[in-house]
Amino acid sequence: MKVYLDNAATTKIDDTVLEELNFCLKEIYGNPSSVHSMGQAAAAKVENAREICAEAIHCRPDEIIFTGGGTEADNMAIIGYAKANGQKGRHIITTSIEHHAVLNSCRQLEKEGFDVTYLPVNAEGIIDVGMVVDAIRDDTILISIMYANNEIGTIQPIKEIGEIAGGKKIAFHSDAVQSFGKTEIDIKQLNLDMMSVSAHKLHGPKGVGFLYLRNGIKMNPVILGGSQERNFRAGTINAPLISALAATVQISLNGMEERENEIRSLRDYFINRILNEIDDVILNGSLECRISENANFSFKGIKSDALLYAMDLQGVCISAGSACTAGSIETSHVIKAIGREGCGASARFTLSKYTTKDELDYTIGVLKKVVENCRK
Ligand code: PLP
Repeated sequence: MKVYLDNAATTKIDDTVLEELNFCLKEIYGNPSSVHSMGQAAAAKVENAREICAEAIHCRPDEIIFTGGGTEADNMAIIGYAKANGQKGRHIITTSIEHHAVLNSCRQLEKEGFDVTYLPVNAEGIIDVGMVVDAIRDDTILISIMYANNEIGTIQPIKEIGEIAGGKKIAFHSDAVQSFGKTEIDIKQLNLDMMSVSAHKLHGPKGVGFLYLRNGIKMNPVILGGSQERNFRAGTINAPLISALAATVQISLNGMEERENEIRSLRDYFINRILNEIDDVILNGSLECRISENANFSFKGIKSDALLYAMDLQGVCISAGSACTAGSIETSHVIKAIGREGCGASARFTLSKYTTKDELDYTIGVLKKVVENCRK
């Protein structure tokens, strides 16, 4: 049996999305910037996609900037915003558990004279809103806090932080790559100025996403070239990928609540069985404030790489740390931040709408044997 439980790394493309992608690649291949009919057909697809994405988060279509995925959206929000607003102040607040797309953007800015505060998280991986307040300085220009963590699935108090940032007139960005399409996001209610989304975590294609940029927020482009995307993102507009992204968004939002409830109940079944049937295991992250597809455990007395390879040999694909750093398996910055370094192998199991109970039962059976063998 082959079981794919690494959906936080990437997902299987949905058939409907693939059809739209194929159709656009074959038929709507004009350059959206060209004035002829083939170009305009592609431009129409792109503008239709922009409306779909805007409607999904309750913003205006001209507040959506299409990007080459979540990393690029994060880079634009952090580096692009800081470069455009550096004269107002040079301090940024983020967390120690952000994705590297945010962390490394911040590190780059530090080299260029910006000052970054990396807030710690509690043992469940949640930040304390009071600490955000305390970290704010007169020269703070940006707060960037992820919506849900890619490793341990914890959801941050985004609404409360949005209120604080809004009250102090500090720009607020959230990396929503792991939560958009899984939980209702209303940009205005959350008081967000920028938000990053990626298609491939939602059964869409890799290499496409968007940045929500509230009208009036100044941001420099990070990719230089033509005047596409209102000068915010140069490069020939990828109409097929963007149209496939829109199809992904529509599919994700359609019946989202029921789907997420189903995934959550399967996930809870999985968590309960593991905690009850395997000794010396701890769940990483919060049970309540957690996206529905994520389960992450530490198994005492085992090394992550041994666990991962043994599971893979039995056909179960899981992850330790995040896939982006999986080339070298060492304790991730997130596991360290929640104080679970030294608690044994941390392993992430992430479900999707395609995951079945049979697959989970098979995984649990394999896991019990693998853990036993690794501990011998
Ligand atoms: N942010 C988070 C929280 C992620 O999980 C990922 C993907 O791993 C990214 C950003 C990067 O997105 P992309 O792979 O589309 O560049």
